[in-house]
Amino acid sequence: MTKFTDLGLAEPIERALAAKGYETPTPIQIKAIPVLLQGRDLCGIAQTGTGKTAAFALPSLHHLAADLKRPIPLSCRMLILSPTRELASQIAVSCRDYSKFLRLSVETVFGGVPIGRQIKALSRGVDILVATPGRLLDLIDQNALSLRNVEIFVLDEADQMLDLGFIHALKRVDKLLPKKRQTLFFSATMPKAISELGDRFLNDPIRVSVTPPATTAERVDQYVTYVNQTEKQGLLTLTLQDEKIERALIFTRTKHGADRVVKHLQAAGIGCEAIHGNKSQPQRERALGLFRSGSIKFLVATDIAARGIDVSGVSHVFNFELPNVAEQYVHRIGRTARAGATGIAMSFVAEDERAYLRGIERLTKVKLTSIPLPADFMEKSRALPKPAAARPTAQRRHDGSARPAGGAEGERPRRPFRPARKPGGVGGHKGAVRKTGGGGGR
Ligand code: AMP
Repeated sequence: MTKFTDLGLAEPIERALAAKGYETPTPIQIKAIPVLLQGRDLCGIAQTGTGKTAAFALPSLHHLAADLKRPIPLSCRMLILSPTRELASQIAVSCRDYSKFLRLSVETVFGGVPIGRQIKALSRGVDILVATPGRLLDLIDQNALSLRNVEIFVLDEADQMLDLGFIHALKRVDKLLPKKRQTLFFSATMPKAISELGDRFLNDPIRVSVTPPATTAERVDQYVTYVNQTEKQGLLTLTLQDEKIERALIFTRTKHGADRVVKHLQAAGIGCEAIHGNKSQPQRERALGLFRSGSIKFLVATDIAARGIDVSGVSHVFNFELPNVAEQYVHRIGRTARAGATGIAMSFVAEDERAYLRGIERLTKVKLTSIPLPADFMEKSRALPKPAAARPTAQRRHDGSARPAGGAEGERPRRPFRPARKPGGVGGHKGAVRKTGGGGGR
């Protein structure tokens, strides 16, 4: 079995890995590190959870350390671009950990925080800069940074970059980078648009791929409960109260949806926080800090905000709403079962989400195991406390999404169960499939 000590990394890096308790490289690390040490470009299909951060960080640190020099003011030697602030912070933490016995500086720049301190940090020059594209270009426009001296460029989560509309920013960055450099390009998926973006940056790259999205989720036990949209909140609250859940991420599709779920859970005495794009950076960091430290067991997140959340011990992922892009489901459930652990993913699927579910099952080649609603669901759900702000009149929200759980809110009575199709396929797949109550869908 390959060990980190077989890879030829500089001794201080090996020492830092030993201090973190890493002995065995992950598959992406085994494939990528040797070719990156040779200075080749790399195009990697890998997603968060595979160990890709160390795969690009370790050989890069090795190169920088082999040629230690004082960074040139207003420049960086290595640039890592991340689509989100959370991921940028996470990458910076990893780089600092892995370089703790080396004399290399690591800085992050991203929006949502004052730019002054970032300008000051860059004035001295830095070895490793982790940035989101928007703030990076702001700093360049303010003459606080030049990319002229970049030796190693990493573009992480390219598919997410495109989803977030960073294509023009990336094309600008491409023009500002020196031709002579090493480039590492990572994406969880590689559709045509992404590989074309890669071609723009890469020069004769080695291509490596680990656990394509369809198979990443094999270690996650995946369940589905068919439920009316109006019943989802009750089901979630009861599940979080009842189950032995160590730490869970709950995904909603909208920011308002995330806030609404938090209000309902808090009203039921369940400690949780939301993390999404409308939250300020300090709010996001606070929520993540509470989650990481275990002060709260539940974090409610939108997809974008959840990128880059690397918290160990997430035992469950709940899909309060299914994502409309199947790959996103894989990203979500990849938050549990990280670094060899096993995890549980539970999806609450309303009638109008069935098509998304079919897309997910096609992509992952996994048929989700159906769990019926608990027998006493209606009574228990009705007894749940509701948040002070929730009014029965507020049945339809502006984003068209869920009203608070029907039973719990004393709204229209639920329609009775009506099996829509014969369950089959997976063992234990005995959950009845019900029609939504008409007005409950999004
Ligand atoms: P990443 O895919 O880079 O987000 O890494 C996923 C998680 O695995 C992070 O918590 C890393 O610290 C951890 N990790 C990465 N490489 C290893 C390794 N070789 N051994 C143990 N844990 C690792």
